[in-house]
Amino acid sequence: MDFISEKINSYSLDHTSKESTLLSELNRETYANVLMPRMLSGHLQGRFLSMISKMINPKKILEIGTYTGYSALCLAEGLKKNGVIHTIDINEEYASIAKRYFNKSVYKNNIKQHIGDAIQIIPKIKDNFQLAFIDADKKNYSKYFNLIINKIDINGYIISDNVLWSGKVLKKTQDEDTNSIKKFNEMIIKDKRLNSILIPIRDGIMISEKIKI
Ligand code: SAH
Ligand code: CA
Repeated sequence: MDFISEKINSYSLDHTSKESTLLSELNRETYANVLMPRMLSGHLQGRFLSMISKMINPKKILEIGTYTGYSALCLAEGLKKNGVIHTIDINEEYASIAKRYFNKSVYKNNIKQHIGDAIQIIPKIKDNFQLAFIDADKKNYSKYFNLIINKIDINGYIISDNVLWSGKVLKKTQDEDTNSIKKFNEMIIKDKRLNSILIPIRDGIMISEKIKI
C-alpha cells in the first residue's frame, strides 16, 4: 500500500504534527479489535486530511466510508464553527465504534452519522458541500462521484482515496476493484468540470476541484 520507503515514511511522521490522544486511542483500538485495520487513515494521512480541510474551511463535508471514524474526526478539524460533516457507512459494527469516539470528541455536535448503503443514503441528504471524501467500496467510486457532483459547490473539492490501489492500476487485470478504480481515474481526468491532481502519497489520493457546473 505504501509507495514511499519505510524510512522516508517514518522521517515524514517524525516531522508531522502529532495526532490527538483521542485519534491515537482510536488507532490503537482499531488495530487491536477490528477487521482490516489498514483501512484506517492513520497518522500521516489523517494529518493531511486535517490540513486540507483547514485550508478549505468548509461549512459542510460529506464522507462516504466512515469505518471507525478516524478520517471523519480529522476532516471535522477544518469545519467552520457550527459546520457539519455527514459520514456514511454500511457496517453497523464499525459505525458503533465510530459513534463512541465521535461522542468523546469536541466535534460531537458537528458529526452526523448515517448507517446504510451510501447509494441509497446520498440522494436523501439534501445539502451542498464544499468538501467530499470518497473512501468506501472501490467498485462504486464512479457511482458515488455521479451522485455527489451536483451537490458540490463551485470551488468545492472531492478527495478520493486509494486511487493507486497498491499500484495495481498499472496492471492489466480481471480484478473488479482494480478495474473500477482505473475507470474512475479515467473518468475524473476527462471531466471538464474538474481540476484534478493525483498525489502518490500512501495509497494514492485524488484531489478534484469543481471549477464549473
Ligand atoms: N475513511 C476511513 C476508512 C474507510 S474504509 C478512514 O480513512 O479511516 C471503507 C468503508 O466503506 C468500510 O467501513 C465499509 O464498511 C464502507 N462501505 C463499503 N461499502 C459501502 C457502501 N455501499 N455504503 C457505505 N459504506 C460502505
Ligand atoms: Ca482509504
